[in-house]
Amino acid sequence: MSKLFLIPTPIGNLKDITFRAVEILGSVDLVLAEDTRQTKKLLNHYNISTPLQSHHMFNEHKSVESICSKILGGQTIALVSDAGTPGISDPGFLLVRTCIENEIPVETLPGPTALIPALVNSGLPSDRFCFEGFLPPKKGRNKRMTGLADETRTMIFYESPFRLVKTLTELAIYLGPDRSASVSRELSKMFEENIRGTLSFLAEYYTNKPPKGEIVIVVTGKKD
Ligand code: SAM
Repeated sequence: MSKLFLIPTPIGNLKDITFRAVEILGSVDLVLAEDTRQTKKLLNHYNISTPLQSHHMFNEHKSVESICSKILGGQTIALVSDAGTPGISDPGFLLVRTCIENEIPVETLPGPTALIPALVNSGLPSDRFCFEGFLPPKKGRNKRMTGLADETRTMIFYESPFRLVKTLTELAIYLGPDRSASVSRELSKMFEENIRGTLSFLAEYYTNKPPKGEIVIVVTGKKD
């Protein structure tokens, strides 16, 4: 039966892909990719020649209906993002929702995503956590931080290297400078780095050593 697969892809190390993900990418009729050139490199690495079609935040609203029609017409389609799990700070939600509305089966494979290794590596409580994705850069930013001041679960944020110091500094103001936190940079890549300490320590550390690469911030929740 035709369906939509969501396939997680490596967040750095090309070996971080499951046997099943490789098998499905090679057997579907079409792979939808955020950046077809990026995904082409992955498919070439695994000798997969499945046709690719671009699917990203700028065209997904227009294309979801035609993708659903293709699946209803008998095709099986896989969605990937540039890295990690589709739908996690990446396109996916809209297509999944539209497929469900059209009674199309949806299957998401377990696999790479940046938030889980960052959380587990942080050494902060991982029994209850919330994923906050990217904080809004401007509008709604202060409101979001105010709302997190009383959050008791461990919080996970995605951040760009250019905004890391600003975000750590502001989190120290809203949540308190002594809150324990962790910054994971370049997970699964050659220069992976995990720095742990208070929010004020981390803000100072990265002020003195401006970061590069991809970043996850993990912050412990407020004590009950
Ligand atoms: N879909 C992806 C996932 O499942 O994690 C997230 C995509 S989002 C557009 C990209 C952000 O994820 C980066 O800015 C960074 O915050 C985080 N990220 C992705 N790869 C990472 C890595 N190797 N190390 C640290 N953070 C990473």
